[in-house]
Amino acid sequence: MKNLNNKVILITGASRGIGAEVATELAKQGAKIIVNYAGSKPEAEKLVSQIKTIGGDAISIQADVSKPAEVKLLFNASIKYYGKIDVLVNNAGIMITKFIKDTSDNDFTKQFDVNVRGVFNTLREAATKLADNGSIINFSTTVNRLILPTYGTYAATKAAVEQLTKVFSKEIGRGVNVNSISPGPTNTELFVKGKPQEVIDRLASMNPYGRIGETDDITSIVAFLASDDAKWINAQNIGVNGGMA
Ligand code: NDP
Repeated sequence: MKNLNNKVILITGASRGIGAEVATELAKQGAKIIVNYAGSKPEAEKLVSQIKTIGGDAISIQADVSKPAEVKLLFNASIKYYGKIDVLVNNAGIMITKFIKDTSDNDFTKQFDVNVRGVFNTLREAATKLADNGSIINFSTTVNRLILPTYGTYAATKAAVEQLTKVFSKEIGRGVNVNSISPGPTNTELFVKGKPQEVIDRLASMNPYGRIGETDDITSIVAFLASDDAKWINAQNIGVNGGMA
């Protein structure tokens, strides 16, 4: 695989979880990283200094992806600092799990604002601001293939992300490829928080490896999709779930 030297990569929601690990791995492969975050400023700044410690290049920029004006500033500030953006990784996301009957209007709006409007806002900016021959990697979920109670609203947001991915891949042109990945359950706060161990064990037993994913199971796939070697993969959704579904 070619490395990511000279690529500038914007990762949304990179202060914690999968996004932070993706930032570190892509930096190790030579990319310059924009660590976007919404609220976790200390974590984002710590990540930037860790990347610099290993010889990488990164900056952190605060922006709530659900806010169009903040996303515009995020793109403009990134381009002002690094001169371009080659790759957009739309990782920022939230998950609210409730039966549909118990889901409030606020739950619904919050979930769609971050997961769908957030991706929409960044794609709209990327349409004119992402460099020619760039790449976009959006985050969906394996939940969409499982039909699990309590994941209705979350799954609906990610189904929308998959459709935005496919349509945008045919709109943007300029040699940009656009794909989504669907991680299975992965060991981060988003997945683990509030879950009894028995639930985690049951989900782990649903793939032939008998474990949930670790963040580095995901980062290597993102690194590949960000590389020029993945150029002929376009408009696809790729399951990264150990064979769960
Ligand atoms: P975490 O909860 O660990 O991290 C979420 C990240 O998103 C944080 O860095 C957070 O930043 C950021 N974020 C949240 N809201 C916003 C916002 N409005 N604007 C900008 N950034 C925001 O989640 P994961 O790492 O587990 O998940 C990453 C992605 O992977 C999500 O899209 C998720 O849906 C998807 N996914 C995760 C799976 C899992 O099992 N973990 C499985 C399948 C998909 P801050 O703290 O600064 O607010």
